[in-house]
Amino acid sequence: MKTNPIHRISRRHFITSSVVATTGVCLMPRRLRADAESPVITIRNAAKTAKISVTKLRGNVSVLEGSGGNIGVLTGNDGKLLVDAGITASRPRISEALDSLSGDPVKHLINSHWHFDHTDGNEWLHSIGAEISAHPNTRKHLATTTRVEDWNFTFPPAPPGALPTKTLDDGQTLHLNGATLALKFYQTAHTDSDISVEFTDADILHCADTFWNGHYPFIDYSTGGSIDGMIRAAEANVARVTDKTIVIPGHGPIGNKSQLTEFRDMLVTIREKVAALKKQGKSRDEVVGAKPTADYDAKWGGYVINGDFFSKLVYAGV
Ligand SMILES: [Zn+2]
Repeated sequence: MKTNPIHRISRRHFITSSVVATTGVCLMPRRLRADAESPVITIRNAAKTAKISVTKLRGNVSVLEGSGGNIGVLTGNDGKLLVDAGITASRPRISEALDSLSGDPVKHLINSHWHFDHTDGNEWLHSIGAEISAHPNTRKHLATTTRVEDWNFTFPPAPPGALPTKTLDDGQTLHLNGATLALKFYQTAHTDSDISVEFTDADILHCADTFWNGHYPFIDYSTGGSIDGMIRAAEANVARVTDKTIVIPGHGPIGNKSQLTEFRDMLVTIREKVAALKKQGKSRDEVVGAKPTADYDAKWGGYVINGDFFSKLVYAGV
């Protein structure tokens, strides 16, 4: 059959139009992404498909990794206790992981601090029966609009069901599922709401985000964090563990005392380098350009915070 030239033209026109249409469709999400470069969006999106790994640590304590900060889990007849809530988008996979550990319902949730990657799942966990404990500043930041400048993100107030139902000012000891849990406020460190949870019998310490194992940490100056507070918390962590302690970091793989020590040393060395450069009168950009983290980037700079970003975070506090 002969091809009608008119058809050919209109077919070519159709192809051209559809290329434009396709290109338009393809460009749109890219433009949207450029507008929404906040790591908050990136992390929330990643959680939709993230795999959740389950590791039994010691006694009846396990850890779930893969959705936001590491989630500590204590199982037993009093109901499961979780340290941190992960990201809501991971709910099906977090539920599955929790079910794989035991049939106990979730009754208790402790927020290690207010950040979204540790509290995003508060509402659904509360809806299935968990009471939520946290430092009063966690409740305060969740209850109001909170801007985190370094994340380029403004958090709206959390829904009422996501707010902590119990607050603790300093230290508190809980007895649950045959275990003793010591909760301790770090003062200001990564934020002004960080608490550690120590499972004393199992000798396991959950350090909140005062410890990122193998990664530069974020430091949230907008809600009370500082490099010096991070170093104080790292010193306290090193001092309170032994070589046998299992250390759950806020982010990164399960660690131990030598990794906590290495993290503390990295913070101290980079703080000194950045402070010396700032003292010479260098601007923030000049300090970042001088690459004060160069010796550490290969090991610590491969996650959310690279060397340049970390240099800026340290510069702000020295
Ligand atoms: Zn955090």
